[in-house]
Amino acid sequence: MLSTEVKVSIYGTLSDKGLYSGYVSGENIPSQNALIISRKSVYDNFTGIVTAIAHLEDGTDKLVVSPRNEIMYEPEIRNLLENMKQLKIQKLSCLYEKSCGAVILHWDNKAQDYMILLVKNHNGRFYSFPKGHVELWENEKETAVREIKEETNLDVKILDGFREISDYCPYGKIRKRVVFFLAVAKSNNIRIQESEIDSYTWVPLGGAGGVTYDNDRRVIEKVRRYIAEHGRI
Ligand code: ATP
Repeated sequence: MLSTEVKVSIYGTLSDKGLYSGYVSGENIPSQNALIISRKSVYDNFTGIVTAIAHLEDGTDKLVVSPRNEIMYEPEIRNLLENMKQLKIQKLSCLYEKSCGAVILHWDNKAQDYMILLVKNHNGRFYSFPKGHVELWENEKETAVREIKEETNLDVKILDGFREISDYCPYGKIRKRVVFFLAVAKSNNIRIQESEIDSYTWVPLGGAGGVTYDNDRRVIEKVRRYIAEHGRI
């Protein structure tokens, strides 16, 4: 149901922060009351998409619909829905997801190459760069620094002039955007977050095997180009 286009008729305002009640209908979606969210004022009728499904504590689901061109992530949607105190949300499934992380470098004298840090998390069988979901009011760099600290205990400095995007669709319908920065570690005392991460490895940038996905390989290629242009960091 996520991402389905629906016709929306607004019939009330639930908060002045962008939460409305409305009536929606669409292909394979029986006409029903829904929660409408938007950053701008919305009136009357418009076409929206199902941007989230709120699974409520009473066992029912409530559709959350926004205008077609608005991308909202879980923390912002949850924050808007919290304006409706009587809504007891057990779980929120969202169409759009955003995470930020970084390719973390350290120079290895013996290898005469930069090493990059890869982590393998519990729910995947692949190595990639440390990253995690954006929280409310955070900017992208703040998310990357916080997530790296949480997952690896490393304090990192983000380098200027590098920002690469990976878009993919986990589990079919979710549209995920991941923003990767380039960073150097201020220390090397890695302590992995055992609840999230299985293991980690440093791989040489020159070889940079070990990643599974093409978009991760593309990010590594961009790092090589960055270093070729900027010299030793
Ligand atoms: P986060 O670290 O952002 O909290 P997560 O652990 O919830 O992420 P992902 O790492 O995005 O989730 O993995 C979710 C699904 O997407 C997995 O099934 C994984 O195989 C797939 N996936 C992960 N990275 C990529 C990628 N770069 N390209 C395509 N699919 C990917």
